Amino acid sequence: MTPTSFEEIALAAPIQRALKEQDYHTPSPIQAQSIPTLLKGQDLLGIAQTGTGKTAAFSLPILNALYEDNYRPQRRSCRVLVLTPTRELATQISASFETYGRHIRFSKTLIFGGVGKNPQINAMRPGVDVLVACPGRLLDHMDQGDVDLSGVEFFVLDEVDRMLDMGFLRDVKRIIAALPRKRQSLFFSATLSPAIDQLARSILHNPTSVSIAPEKTTAEKVAQSVCFIDREDKRDLLALHLEEEANKGLTIVFSRTKHGADKLCRWIKASGFDAEAIHGNRSQPQRDRTLTRFKKGDLPILVATDVAARGVDVKDVTLVVNFDLPNEAESYVHRIGRTGRAGAAGHAVSYCAPEEHEFFMDVEKLIQQKVPVDSNHAWHHEKLAELHARGIKSPESTRDNGGKKGGGRQGRGGRGRGGQAQGRQGGGGRQPRRTEGASNSSGGGGGNRRRRRR
Ligand code: AMP
Repeated sequence: MTPTSFEEIALAAPIQRALKEQDYHTPSPIQAQSIPTLLKGQDLLGIAQTGTGKTAAFSLPILNALYEDNYRPQRRSCRVLVLTPTRELATQISASFETYGRHIRFSKTLIFGGVGKNPQINAMRPGVDVLVACPGRLLDHMDQGDVDLSGVEFFVLDEVDRMLDMGFLRDVKRIIAALPRKRQSLFFSATLSPAIDQLARSILHNPTSVSIAPEKTTAEKVAQSVCFIDREDKRDLLALHLEEEANKGLTIVFSRTKHGADKLCRWIKASGFDAEAIHGNRSQPQRDRTLTRFKKGDLPILVATDVAARGVDVKDVTLVVNFDLPNEAESYVHRIGRTGRAGAAGHAVSYCAPEEHEFFMDVEKLIQQKVPVDSNHAWHHEKLAELHARGIKSPESTRDNGGKKGGGRQGRGGRGRGGQAQGRQGGGGRQPRRTEGASNSSGGGGGNRRRRRR
């Protein structure tokens, strides 16, 4: 029987209390299906993506085990290792452990690149209960002898598809080779390709499989639309959409490249909106500061690249704008999953230029859905819309030039141009908001209290 309330699940009282404080009453499908089997000590193969509640699905039973078996971790080691592809996701997972485990005494730390190594080495020296890490930096520490994984009892491999996309397979395999054989392993991926399946088989022992139709769930719950438009008109349309969204909620604007994100962000700011960009070229403290402002609602617009936005879990995101279409269709699902979090209403709008048409065709193939066309704007590209409706790829679209200016763009004739939105005056009445100081509670190390065995 799958539980329909957290009270039906045998989680310890301090965890139940934290859940009540979070206002969680009903387990999400992945939680209802995985927590009971994880509490029995079984391995898990979870096909689910961020947004389904999978972080609680693995952190709650792990916290329960830490509470019940309150050992001291070995020096330089950890009892729980969560391996995840990006720093943002690592920070998010660490924060979830903190939230759900706030009435339990346990230590945790984060390891990822882009910040100093020494605080991480110091934090690991006495051993920690929970280590959330990205593969590259973790391997550095292992190679230097600063981290030893022989004490791991719980191993969580998170966002495996993403991890492989980012080229971490070899690193991940090296890390797995350093784990003790006797452990409980949990494996999460949004998709299950043959390579992922093979990796799962090599790690898991008689796992319970739980599959939460991820793409469909996200694609179904987020209202989507596509605007067919010329590349050089996109900014005008964006200004219109940002104006409409102002005071409703938070917006994430996706750009395919770091450089593009910076340029776009500068333009958005010059148009009178308050916006900041996050991407891999910004330092970790900068990213943390930006995310803190965004989460607090002090920053209405975040311009992001795919990787940087990966772990962004902010409930009040009401609009996602795909300013550029991603060249991997799966990223589209991840992007639109940034809105409509935890059942909230969300809208995702994609701007598709002729050069990007093929990417958009890939998206519709993947989500097995026709995205409604929004032609109700001054820059609607009727010719492209027509081709799309007939299932014909735009001659200007190639997979190679999606990010660049399309060669041989045709004249602008033949499309309706109302111009009703042209007259937006930048800066009109928008109050720039004050930047908050960084208050990252889960930075690269520290804060761990050692506890004695009870
Ligand atoms: P995740 O997939 O773990 O990133 O979680 C997605 C979002 O759902 C996060 O904002 C969680 O705080 C929220 N969430 C997770 N589980 C529940 C639940 N059982 N009830 C309400 N919200 C939840």
